[in-house]
Amino acid sequence: MLVGDPKGFLHFEREAPVRRPVMLCVHDWREVYEPFGAERVRAQAARCMDCGIPFCHEGCPLGNLIPEWNDLVYRDRLADASARLEATNNFPELTGRLCPAPCEGSCVLGINAEPVSIKQVELEIAEWGAQRLEPRRAGVQTTKRVAIVGSGPAGLAAAQQLTRAGHDVVVYERAERIGGLLRYGIPEFKLEKGVLERRLVQMRSEGTVFMTAVSVGTGSSGAEEVPGAAAPDVAHISAQQLRNDCDVVVLACGSTRPRDLEVPGRELDGVHFAMEYLKPSNQVCEGSRAVTPITAAGRHVVIVGGGDTGADCLGTVHRQGAASVHQLEILPSPPMSRAAGNPWPTWPVIFRTSSAHEEGGERVFGVTTVERVGDSADVGGVGAVGSAHVRSLRLQDVVSEVVEGRLQFVPVPGTERELEADLVLIAVGFSGPERSGVVAELGLELDAKGAVAVGPDFATELDGVFACGDMARGQSLIVWAIAEGRAVAAEVDRYLMGTTSLPRPISAGQLALR
Ligand SMILES: Cc1cc2nc3c(=O)[nH]c(=O)nc-3n(C[C@H](O)[C@H](O)[C@H](O)COP(=O)(O)OP(=O)(O)OC[C@H]3O[C@@H](n4cnc5c(N)ncnc54)[C@H](O)[C@@H]3O)c2cc1C
Ligand code: SF4
Repeated sequence: MLVGDPKGFLHFEREAPVRRPVMLCVHDWREVYEPFGAERVRAQAARCMDCGIPFCHEGCPLGNLIPEWNDLVYRDRLADASARLEATNNFPELTGRLCPAPCEGSCVLGINAEPVSIKQVELEIAEWGAQRLEPRRAGVQTTKRVAIVGSGPAGLAAAQQLTRAGHDVVVYERAERIGGLLRYGIPEFKLEKGVLERRLVQMRSEGTVFMTAVSVGTGSSGAEEVPGAAAPDVAHISAQQLRNDCDVVVLACGSTRPRDLEVPGRELDGVHFAMEYLKPSNQVCEGSRAVTPITAAGRHVVIVGGGDTGADCLGTVHRQGAASVHQLEILPSPPMSRAAGNPWPTWPVIFRTSSAHEEGGERVFGVTTVERVGDSADVGGVGAVGSAHVRSLRLQDVVSEVVEGRLQFVPVPGTERELEADLVLIAVGFSGPERSGVVAELGLELDAKGAVAVGPDFATELDGVFACGDMARGQSLIVWAIAEGRAVAAEVDRYLMGTTSLPRPISAGQLALR
């Protein structure tokens, strides 16, 4: 293939989208980026340089046909570009906004220059397509019945693929609304929920059926391990009943068990897991709740965890009007450019500044929490009067050392100090799917990292039961969840029909380029 402008990368510099001014962003919940504009997108697409072996295909778990759509965008053939993009990606409007873009880390131009702005080109094509979304209905119905449990990006991608293949697909979701972490984890300023609704309209008109406020799995009496994750009026249905009623059950329940911080003071009021904080805040934004029970307004907030979930808490904290906010990370600050042991085309582990970081707050690297310190006074109206409320965190600097092949964090003597905190948000990751409910009822085997064990074809050890997304992979990314949803759909279709023409971008457990 020849790209539109073979010397485009010599004529045009990389451009990224510009964020709206911080002073405006922190006073509303709208997405933070300014529109990019068709001409600038064409110039960025023109930087794609006919490199011969496009490593970006390998970097993208979906195998998006990046040079092809760059060329089509350059030639102003947006309808064709949109068709090429939707051939490999069910929800490019999500990845175009939210993907960290491992493809750009693998772009050949990135060896000695700035990579192509692939994600921005993807978003522009996706938005062009989204204005023209039509249902793609199956030509023939198979009468095979598929139940999908969980409506995050993995469940949604599997549902769309299998509905389009002619199967009768019902998605079961225990929360009030569809979307998983897209709905209740990722804040509005990163993804306005109207974007998700638009796609759900298409899916419904293609024939996918959605059942909300239904929790599948009655193991351990169906007890909720994650309070507030299910709708208040949730109904329970056994997984075995779904197995009896359907030809296949696909589990896409996510990795929802929050990791805790094993230090004294967990019982104090004012200490919450990130999702306990983000979900009600998102519900307020979409109007299904009047006020959030956990607000940062006027508080001294400490977010423990320097990753993306922590950054989403940070942006939310800013918009609620905190008195101060610190984000703590145990790892040292990453370098500004690739370290020697982190070569192209692997994912660059470098210092990144998200919109939430730009908006304020202080980032503290190389630090560990030793203790959460409380008092018995009620602070700011939260908690019963007289119950102990968090007042500060005791911190200590650490240095990272590899001891016997394992990364260890060694405390630095004399660096202990206190940091004022009357709201502490724990964002240190997730440790796999909940053990009660569907996992307990079906007796599903877990792998070493605590995820549901599946074969390369996403099948569990139970006949007709498949698992995908974060539930089987462990905590990951939207692009991997969509890839797993597409791949499990191909395997399910093959299981049901003996053969399949659905694409299978990855095998279960396939790793990123490393
Ligand atoms: C705060 C936050 C921000 C993130 N931001 C990004 C980002 O910007 N970019 C990115 O690429 N990735 C991001 N991620 C990661 C990404 O959201 C996940 O990798 C992805 O959503 C996983 O998709 P999934 O479909 O496997 O699971 P989920 O999105 O977790 O969906 C699982 C669904 O299953 C439902 N469910 C669980 N058990 C049951 C049951 N028994 N019965 C019925 N329903 C059930 C849950 O309610 C949930 O709706 C973020 C994660 C978090 C926590
Ligand atoms: S989905 Fe992510 S990795 Fe794939 S092309 Fe888009 S931005 Fe790149």
